[in-house]
Amino acid sequence: MRILLAEDESALAQPLRNTLREQGYAVDWVDNGTDAQHQGLVEDYDAVILDLGLPGADGLSVLQAWRREGRDVPVLILTARDHWSEKVAGIDAGADDYLSKPFHTEELLARLRALIRRRSGVQNPVLHAGSVTLDTRSGRLSVNGQTVALTSHEYKVLAYLMHHANAVVSRTELTDHIYEQDLDRDSNTIEVFIGRLRKKLPEGTIETLRGLGYRLSGDAS
Ligand code: CA
Repeated sequence: MRILLAEDESALAQPLRNTLREQGYAVDWVDNGTDAQHQGLVEDYDAVILDLGLPGADGLSVLQAWRREGRDVPVLILTARDHWSEKVAGIDAGADDYLSKPFHTEELLARLRALIRRRSGVQNPVLHAGSVTLDTRSGRLSVNGQTVALTSHEYKVLAYLMHHANAVVSRTELTDHIYEQDLDRDSNTIEVFIGRLRKKLPEGTIETLRGLGYRLSGDAS
């Protein structure tokens, strides 16, 4: 899952970015509204964390611009404490959720997971596909009740496929959602991660559809 973090306060953004990365997200960080607006229009994020008080263009107009252009990415806005009218304006502008500063990181993470699930039509933070269980809170994979270790790239690929169970996901789409912007992207490595995941999962969990991509067969949850 790839996140856009738009926050100008680096004392907040840097540690938050690290935490999000530890949680298995690819994170693009921008510190002003102009870049935020551009990134949100050209990239396909799984969710956005948007501070409303940004230099360049304020968060509210950034969000309005995205919605005007038909970008339906889930957006969690960060508002200044006690500015209740900001929340109202943000929700009216198309925000999906909000948090007031200061906030507990755990709460932000839970709200983010919920936004991503909602978009994928998933109800539960624990994802199931037959005997495969992936807990998106802890990042733990288990197969037939046994814990199986994953590298961070394997986790990213599996989490994306499990959020899009039974859908065909192309290599390009996977590449877009597991790598951060600045990283060298090589869609051939996706094949390597899929190969490693297959060794850890029951046979047939991830199908290859020639020329189209991959499909993970999951239970609807
Ligand atoms: Ca700010």
